[in-house]
Formats: sequence, C-alpha cells, structure tokens
Amino acid sequence: MTRDEIRSYLEFYRDLGFESIYKHSSYKQPCAAPAVVAPAPVIEAPPPIVALPGLAPAGDTLARIREDIGDCRRCRLCESRHSIVFGSGNERSPLVFVGEGPGADEDEQGLPFVGRAGQLLTQMIEGTATKEGIPIRRPDVYICNVVKCRPPENRTPLPDEMEICGQFLFRQLTAIRPKAICALGATAMKALLNTKEGITKTRGKWYKWRDIPLMVTYHPSYLLRQYNQTARREAWEDLKALLHFVYD
Ligand code: URA
Repeated sequence: MTRDEIRSYLEFYRDLGFESIYKHSSYKQPCAAPAVVAPAPVIEAPPPIVALPGLAPAGDTLARIREDIGDCRRCRLCESRHSIVFGSGNERSPLVFVGEGPGADEDEQGLPFVGRAGQLLTQMIEGTATKEGIPIRRPDVYICNVVKCRPPENRTPLPDEMEICGQFLFRQLTAIRPKAICALGATAMKALLNTKEGITKTRGKWYKWRDIPLMVTYHPSYLLRQYNQTARREAWEDLKALLHFVYD
C-alpha cells in the first residue's frame, strides 16, 4: 500500500467512527486492564500476551463475517483442516461461550463442541439451567471458538493464529452483542482478556471484554481430565452465577 492509500483507508474507518485500529502483535504495546463488573472486587491489570485486532465494519452480521472468512487461507491451520467451524446456536443469544478451537469431531462435522468436551458442555449448560429453574437449552446460547480451524494434533493455537482468527471472533461478539460472554479455558481467556494470568486465579470472577461482562471458567476438556471433583464443582458454580446474571 502507498502512503496515500493507507491515509485514505484510515480516514475511511475514522469517518465510520472507529477510534482504534488493528495492530500487529509484533508491535508491542501495553493493553488496558480488563474492566471488572461491579460488584466484583477490582482485579489487577495482567500484563499483555497477544494483541488482537479490534476492527468491525458498521452493521456487521454473522452472515457477512462468515462470507468474509470465505475459504480462508490466512494462516497455516488451513493446510490440515477439513472444515471451518464458524459457530452455532442462537445468533441473538444474550450469552456466548468461546472455546479454543475445533477438535477432530468438530473439524469433521463443521460444528463447535460436538465431541466429548462438547457433550460435557451441553450437560453443564442444560443441567445447571434445569437445576436453577432457568428455561434454556444449548441451542438457546451461541457457541464459537477463538480459531475456526483445527490445530494439528489438537495443539494450542499459536499467537499469530489467534491474532489472525481473533478478528473474526471479535466481529462475531460485536455483531451478537450478548449480555455476557463465557471464556472456556486459557486460550479464550488470553484472546479476550489479553492476560498471562493463570485460570485458577481468573475463573469465577467478572471481567469485561470491551463493555460486555465476561466470566472465565475451566475448559470442558480440562474437566474431563480432572479426577478430583474440585474443578468440576467450581465450573458448575461459575456457570450458575453466569446463567443467573444473564437470565434472571
Ligand atoms: N474444544 C474447543 O475448544 N472447541 C471445540 O469446538 C471443541 C473442543
């Protein structure tokens, strides 16, 4: 791009009302503290780990975002994927769950959280809702991931993969504008809160992504590996608080 093209690109977005633009992660800059929703105690700002882009076109929709993803070849994950797993559920949901990335079952079916971890997530949502008298089922919420393509061998997505795909996650969240977001596990937490903090410290507390309340809890895959009941009990407590916040 020439300087003039860059200038007119920036002016275009400024005229649309955008005050911040995408910065590449090699461009190290401290990020703002994740804001906490009252009445939770104030959480210290954790140091930044990955910088994700923050640009969304005005009047964005999930259909438009999916169209923009296209047959994506923006990062190496396209090489081994079978499908792009965009997200599923109620597009007007007041609650969005964000996981890490598709596994083998999700890659095969093109849908998020359909394998063992997904079954546990469904049980957690529906079991907690039933017990708490909240009339929702899994299809009433929206579920998506930080990265839309399966990382080989189910490895953790790399920072550049999270950064590239993160722009679509951010657009999904901006388009849905839920009442609350649930970050499932450390990868979703890093992508949305930009923190290095450990999940045992952040889980169960209220933060904000932009101005949307966000709670972090354990990833269902982690819970499947836990033989002691503590983490499971904690995840259930987190979900209970989240569902009451959203649906009461
Ligand atoms: N784990 C995730 O993080 N996402 C899925 O869609 C499935 C398993």
